[in-house]
Parts: sequence; C-alpha cells; structure tokens
Amino acid sequence: MPLTARSRRKPGTRILVTLLCGLLPILSGTAILYLQAERTLHQSAEQTADEALRQFELMLDNTAQAARELLPLAGQPCDTAQLALREQVTRRPFVRSTNLVWDNNLYCSSLFGHFKEAVNPGDYTQGKLWLMNGNPVTPNTALLVYRLSDGRSGALTTLDGYHLSNILRLIGRQTLLLLQVGNNWLSADGKVHQGALPPLPVAQSTLNSSRYAFSVSAGFPEGEVWRYMADEYPPLFSLLIFFGAVSGAIGYIVQKRSTSPSHEMLRALEAGEFIPYFQPVVHGDSKQWSGTEVLMRWNHPKEGLVRPDLFIPFAEHSGLIVPMTRSLMQQTAALLGPVSPAFVTPFHIGINISARHCQNLELVQDCREFLAAFEPGSIHLVLELTERELIEPTDITHRLFCELREAGVKIAIDDFGTGHSSLTYLRTFNVDFLKIDQSFVAMIGLDALSRHILDSIIELCAKLDLGIVAEGVETEEQSQYLTLHHVNFLQGYLYGKPMPAADFINALTHR
Ligand code: C2E
Ligand code: CA
Ligand code: CA
Repeated sequence: MPLTARSRRKPGTRILVTLLCGLLPILSGTAILYLQAERTLHQSAEQTADEALRQFELMLDNTAQAARELLPLAGQPCDTAQLALREQVTRRPFVRSTNLVWDNNLYCSSLFGHFKEAVNPGDYTQGKLWLMNGNPVTPNTALLVYRLSDGRSGALTTLDGYHLSNILRLIGRQTLLLLQVGNNWLSADGKVHQGALPPLPVAQSTLNSSRYAFSVSAGFPEGEVWRYMADEYPPLFSLLIFFGAVSGAIGYIVQKRSTSPSHEMLRALEAGEFIPYFQPVVHGDSKQWSGTEVLMRWNHPKEGLVRPDLFIPFAEHSGLIVPMTRSLMQQTAALLGPVSPAFVTPFHIGINISARHCQNLELVQDCREFLAAFEPGSIHLVLELTERELIEPTDITHRLFCELREAGVKIAIDDFGTGHSSLTYLRTFNVDFLKIDQSFVAMIGLDALSRHILDSIIELCAKLDLGIVAEGVETEEQSQYLTLHHVNFLQGYLYGKPMPAADFINALTHR
C-alpha cells in the first residue's frame, strides 16, 4: 500500500542528499575560515613589514647622522680627519666604517686611513643608498652604504649587513622578510641578491620607506594558509564537523518526512489521483436506482486502485480530507451533472464527510457549488457522517448544520448502531437519514439479537420520521426482509458494487 511503501527516492539519492547536507556547512565554514586565516596572515605580514621598516630607518638615522657630522671634514687632509672618522665608528652602534670623499674620490677611510678609490654616484639608489655584497675587506658580506654629498665634498658611512639580516630574521620569524634597495635585495640568511624580488606567494605586503630609498616586503610561503588553519583552528573544525553531522541528520530526516503519508497524499491530490467510485442505492419497493454513494478511490500510479480505509485515516489526521472531499464533489458534479435527466428524482447522492469538515463553514460553500451543478430539485445531496466519529456540538457545528439545512443539504448518520449516538445527538444535528450498518444487515436470518436491534432501529426511525438506508445488502433474503419492514433505500452488492463513473453512468442511462 502506498503509505507504508518505501520512499520514492532511491537510497543512493538519499545518501547523496544527506552527504551534501552534511558537507555544506563544513565546506562553507572552511571557506569562511580560509578567508579569515588569509586576512589574519595579511595583517600579520603588514605589521611585520612595518616593524622592520621602522627598525631599518632607526639604523639608517644613526648612519646618516655620522655622515652628516663628517661631511664638513671632507677636503681636509686624511691625517687630520682620520680620528674623527674612527670616533664615529666607535660611538655609533650600527656604523661599521666611515669614509671621506672629494670630487667623487674616496681618499680617507676609518679603516685604512689614506685610500684611493673612485666613487660612482650611479651605484647609489637615488644617489644615497647602496646595498653591496661585501667589499675587499669582508667579501660576500652584506653592507649598506649611505652616501652624503655636498658639492665636491662627500661622506660615506656603512652599516653592517649582519644587523640588517638579524632584523629580517628576528622580526620575521614565521614571516618571510626581504629588504630591497634599488636593484639589490637582502634575505634573512644575510645574502645579497640582484634583480627583481621573488614573489611571496601568500599575503605579500610591501612597504616603501618615506625617508630612505629602500622598501621591505613581507609574506608567507605556499600553503601557509592551510598550515595556519591546522595550527589555529582545530576547535572550530570540530565545531564544523558537529554542524555537518547535525545538518546531515536534519537533511536525512527532512527527506524521510518529505515522503511521509501526508506529503505523498498532497502530491496525489495535486495529481488528481483521488477519484470517485459510485455504488447504486436502490428504492426499497421498486428496486430502481434512485441514488448513489460516492466512494473515494486512490488511483495510485504504482499501486493501482487503493481502498479508502487504507488512506482515509491519514487524510483525516492531516486535514487533507477537506480538500480531497472538495475535489471528489467537484468531480462528481462534473460527471453526474450532465446526466441528471436520467435520474429518478430526487436522486440521492451520498458523500462521506468526517469530523474535520465540521470545524468551519467551508463545507457549506462546497455543497452550494455542488448543488448548483444540477437541475434544481433533481437531487438530494446527503452528507454521511459516520457514527464512530462523534461531533462536538459547538457554535460552529450548529451554524454549519443550520446553513447546510438552509442550502437544502440532507444529513445521514452512517454506520448507525455501531457507535453511541444518543437521541439528543440525532436531534441536535437535525438528521434526515440513518444508514444501518452492514453488520446488522448481515445478521438477518442468522442472529436473533441483531435482528432485534435492527427492528428497533427501524422502529426508531419511523418514530423520529427519519429515512432509512440499509447498507451491505448481499442476499435476496436480506432484501425481502428490509423491504417488508419498509426500509426506504437499499445499498449493497446485490444491486451493484462501487464502480467507476463510466460504468455507473452507462448503467444508469441504459436502465
Ligand atoms: P462506508 O461509508 O460505510 O461505505 C460503505 C462501504 O461498504 C464501502 O466500502 C462499500 O464498498 C462497502 N459495501 C457496499 N456494499 C457492500 C456489500 O454488499 N458487502 C460488503 N461487504 N461491502 C459493501 P469502501 O468503498 O471500501 O469504503 C470504506 C469506507 O471508507 C467507507 O465506509 C467510508 O467510511 C470511507 N470512505 C470512502 N470514501 C470516503 C470519502 O470520500 N470520504 C470519507 N470521509 N470516507 C470515505
Ligand atoms: Ca458512507
Ligand atoms: Ca457505512
């Protein structure tokens, strides 16, 4: 049966959807964490570059100060100036050597005293700074030379590369830091390289000094973002996995629910799978077809025709029974309206309703529309209310039954004798017919007690002036007994089983 049948989704699809639901928060959370890690690394690179830049500027301040103090001595004989040169080297922490220049010729050095070497201003970035890969005294050792010149005089002070690479190493730590001066650059290992800076793959940040002709670049090696995430975010990853599991579980449950009975029935309702079957109701005396009970069937695409007792309880529970009955009434009106000339009038059309219908007044409009599809007076619309489902007499139900009565709708108590409706109940709802349950009819000729009950019901109906319909008439004996006891209408396999509209209409019009 369709409502307990396995979901229409294949297990593979369900697993896939569950996996996607689980992966979604993990993947989106990881993407957010990745962006966050990238931002953090960017900030860190910027800070590191800034700090290194300030340190280099401080050192260059020191070196430049020495040059400034020595510049007035340029042109003086080396013997006179030499002491001042050495004093600067001794007093200034970062100054390694000092030199005097005249007419672009280095003529006096703190280290060698008299000296002779040509100075090419073009070697200096902006004429001021030159990052050298050592000199004849210390080859292959980085050296930063600061040049100050004024007319023919000049002073050169040098800063030991050891201090520079120390800064790159100590401030850089996890960060790659590079110092660039013109076309040369220095790495943390103290080596001077020529040419363009190598790109720093992650979070590269380059800062130019506003005071000296150098720049500092900071960044991280390839894969640093993932490494950073692995170091810093393990608790967040656990949380993401937790959310993933919860989301996967929700996805799974929602999929299961989406194939729940009410969902499946809603689909069926929209697909028009609930159709009316018609069982004839015959007149007690003439046995002429004088009405029909409309019985719902589910024309399921896979399961075939489904009996109402297998799905009606779900429909009542979910409230879907209201739109389902509406659809059934609309289909019945469209099918039987055009053949109403073939009716024995007034033709009884019984529609089963449930307690759910009595919670508001919607049913009145449905009945009005139903009646409007037929010639006035050609039918009796009989709403069958099962006795097994007691209806609370509230303001709403009173109004509902009043309005139904005004609209000309009849009320029948279905399955009478199986429930516990009292006489007050019968009066409260202004009942027109009682439908004797088939279990009593089946006992005719078999069980004396049931026959007594049956007789009492028939008697009661006569006293209350109610019409009687006997259900489940299967044998001639039952038929005769009921007719003898003036039961107005008979219904059962003896006269016709519930049948599709085409068969019913065909039989009706050819009678
Ligand atoms: P019900 O209202 O008492 O309907 C009569 C049931 O008795 C029908 O079963 C009918 O096929 C069956 N029946 C008729 N004559 C005989 C007979 O001579 N012998 C036997 N053994 N059975 C006979 P069906 O169509 O399977 O419907 C079962 C129940 O489902 C109905 O009982 C009614 O309570 C419910 N139902 C059917 N259609 C609807 C509907 O549109 N709305 C609601 N709320 N309930 C419906
Ligand atoms: Ca019924
Ligand atoms: Ca019944």
